[in-house]
Amino acid sequence: MSTTIEVKNLTKTYGKVTALKRVNLSIELGEFLVLLGPSGCGKTTLLRCIAGLETPDEGQIIVGDQTVFDAERGIAVPSGKRKVGMVFQSYALWPHMTVYDNIGFGLWLQKLPAKEARKQVDDVLKDLGMEGLGHRYPSELSGGQQQRVAVARLLATKPPVFLMDEPLSNLDARLRLDMRSELKRLHFRLGVTTVYVTHDQTEAMTMASRVVVMNAGEIQQIDAPRTIYHKPASLFVAEFVGMPRINSLPAQVVRQDGKTWLRTDVFTLEIPAGLSEQELTAAIRPEDITLYLEPQSGMTEFKVYAVLPSGPEQYVQVKKDDRILMIRETRPLDLKMDQSVWIQIKPPAINLYHKENGAAISMHSTDKHDGEDVPYS
Ligand code: ATP
Repeated sequence: MSTTIEVKNLTKTYGKVTALKRVNLSIELGEFLVLLGPSGCGKTTLLRCIAGLETPDEGQIIVGDQTVFDAERGIAVPSGKRKVGMVFQSYALWPHMTVYDNIGFGLWLQKLPAKEARKQVDDVLKDLGMEGLGHRYPSELSGGQQQRVAVARLLATKPPVFLMDEPLSNLDARLRLDMRSELKRLHFRLGVTTVYVTHDQTEAMTMASRVVVMNAGEIQQIDAPRTIYHKPASLFVAEFVGMPRINSLPAQVVRQDGKTWLRTDVFTLEIPAGLSEQELTAAIRPEDITLYLEPQSGMTEFKVYAVLPSGPEQYVQVKKDDRILMIRETRPLDLKMDQSVWIQIKPPAINLYHKENGAAISMHSTDKHDGEDVPYS
């Protein structure tokens, strides 16, 4: 069983801090939606408002067919009566209760017949590979096991919506990776609508069916991870998502000789006609810059500034004048500091942003260049 969530014009303030500013969000049936953003952007507040742990100032929240919050109509369904289950970053396990009782607690509250409740607890213990741990106390478990108990507790009551607030952030890197796969399998198996909060972009990109990127209480973009990565809707999203960080540099659109050019301090590149002359910001992913070791016609010379090997690839910084560009290089090139290199950028790989407000500017007719090599001059 799964359900949808509608958030309409939600605002939440804490004194002078506006944690959420008129947030609108439609969460689809069965999707794994990840709220991503820097610390303080409001993602936990949004999740807690859906859970009923915070009371918004304005707006509406509808879970399935139930309006759980409506500021105008004075509706605020208490947390326990909303059809949602939540896993917290701290796991929030009862230290004085065994694993068995921690998992079963919600069922005892629901006054489920004892036999049925016991079966449900046994089932989730088995499901999550924790048979035999039921008698232990949380302090007798590893971080990964505690995390699993928190998930088991969520599963036991079978809520139609899962809310998860950074559930993996207390685990070490390897365990976190394993648990990501487990949570994905769980979602694949159960298909329960899930809203998941993280500040870790890798976690968001690897787990989400859609990512909501937030900043300063506002939603910047809602899209599939691939779109968020390749077509960021704002400079904020472009710079927040991607490691190493996207190369962003001031640029100008100029018209000359009947052609349209994108001019930066280190390269000038012909782009399709369509944009008026203006100043903007150009952003290019490190893997969208191709490195050449020999001079190429029409390409500018850079010097290798630093080489940062990282196992299967190396991050190469190249410098010209005061500008440093980051390149993701998958070939095992033996590069030396200060060696000359030449770079190529393809127009379709460039995203353009408004100089003042960082909103995306479409370079629409770039499509005709897809797949072609267009060196800059
Ligand atoms: P983090 O990743 O650090 O948890 P977040 O994106 O989840 O950050 P929130 O916890 O939602 O951000 O906080 C949003 C803003 O609201 C922040 O400025 C925060 O300081 C403020 N805030 C959150 N909870 C409270 C509270 N109970 N009292 C006062 N201010 C709060």
